[in-house]
Amino acid sequence: MRASRVAASYGARVAVAESGRFGGTCVNVGCIPKKLFSYAAHYREDFAVAKSFGWTLGEPKFDWRTLVVNKDREIARLNGVYESALEKAGARILRARATVVDPHTVEAGGRSYSARHILIATGSWPQIPDIPGRELAVTSNEAFFLERLPRRALVVGAGYIALEFASIFNGLGVQTTLAYRGPRLLRGFDADLGERIAEEMRKKGVDIRLQTNPAKLERGIRVTYGVGATQEVDLVLFATGRKPNTAGLGLERAGVKLAADGAVVVDEYSKSSADSIHAIGDVTNRLNLTPVATAEGMALAKTLFRNEPTPVDHVNVPTAVFSDPNIATVGLSEEAARKRHGQVDVYKAAFRALKLTLGGHEERTFMKLVIDAASQRVVGAHMIGPDAGEIIQGVAIAVKIGATKAQFDATIGIHPTAAEEFVTMREKLQ
Ligand code: NDP
Repeated sequence: MRASRVAASYGARVAVAESGRFGGTCVNVGCIPKKLFSYAAHYREDFAVAKSFGWTLGEPKFDWRTLVVNKDREIARLNGVYESALEKAGARILRARATVVDPHTVEAGGRSYSARHILIATGSWPQIPDIPGRELAVTSNEAFFLERLPRRALVVGAGYIALEFASIFNGLGVQTTLAYRGPRLLRGFDADLGERIAEEMRKKGVDIRLQTNPAKLERGIRVTYGVGATQEVDLVLFATGRKPNTAGLGLERAGVKLAADGAVVVDEYSKSSADSIHAIGDVTNRLNLTPVATAEGMALAKTLFRNEPTPVDHVNVPTAVFSDPNIATVGLSEEAARKRHGQVDVYKAAFRALKLTLGGHEERTFMKLVIDAASQRVVGAHMIGPDAGEIIQGVAIAVKIGATKAQFDATIGIHPTAAEEFVTMREKLQ
């Protein structure tokens, strides 16, 4: 979308081939419907909090069909918005699956098109490990369209999608288990985030089982774990990673090198091993986030059509996991910072949000700053708590421009907020 629109605005003649709905994973089976579901799930707790502020409510009831129908209507609207934005930008739309024939030729809908540049932005697809009974399980693709909400669900994995869907199911009243093969959730994130989110999700009722991985599924659905234990559930959702969509695109015959996982190998300008073929987004398996793909698209349009070679900066990209509570982070984990900088200073804060004090809710907000001791620059900011993404987005600007801890401290807080903790952390941990 972004690459086409910006390229067209720079005067390029652009055609877009799409056989499915416009907007890609994010709009159709990712970020947008996920966040809508996440709002829906949070109401359960919001009703309880409202009571502590004196409100009396009837028995809250949830209707899954209403949510799905309303979500589908909104997504269909967005599909239309995206398609017409492309048309308005002057791009020609080919409603067909395309394949690459040679470095300058694409085939779509039985016709052949030649182009100076070909851009591959075909995204990725969820993967289910090869275990007996895998066909009984679903992925996030199907979870957005379930006919009915299961009574008991098992979510497998401990990355973004697993935590988000486990929180959604749990919030909507599903008896939810999360099974993860490793010792701590969110591998690669700051260790405090992985440990503390497990605690928070457990308090809210998610049954988190670490070092546990399903080995077999049988109709029912009966899950047998590697350790031998069994469990009966109504739905199994695998959130065990995604694979770049390059199969059957004809890329190899055009001289495009693929990595072992199928990703298009690109340089910092998103150029593949074939000079006329570029790739952006999840299909390159760099940082698989929508705003990163958008930035890659914009940079590419500038590079190719405005004569301004623009590499994409993948450093200090903020990101959020919309689990309940939310997680957001920018920069380095404590562990990565120690490896990179040697000595680091660490500041942490954990507290109960003001909004939750009247009802005696147990959820704790957590914040952490990681500082390179030598330069005193803040190299990592991490948070678990309501609106973590909204808060870290602002903090990310400071981290991106290399602000020091003293500059954080010189910033006056906004009181009373949770965010002010980021500028009032005084006690260094050893
Ligand atoms: P992730 O790569 O984030 O997580 C995959 C999880 O599945 C990990 O916990 C991994 O464990 C586990 N896993 C992988 N293979 C197996 C296996 N064979 N058996 C058991 N467990 C396995 O992938 P997701 O599917 O959650 O999401 C894909 C990507 O999409 C994300 O990485 C992110 O880039 C993007 N995304 C972003 C979102 C956001 O910005 N909010 C939301 C959703 C997705 P281990 O760590 O041990 O390898």
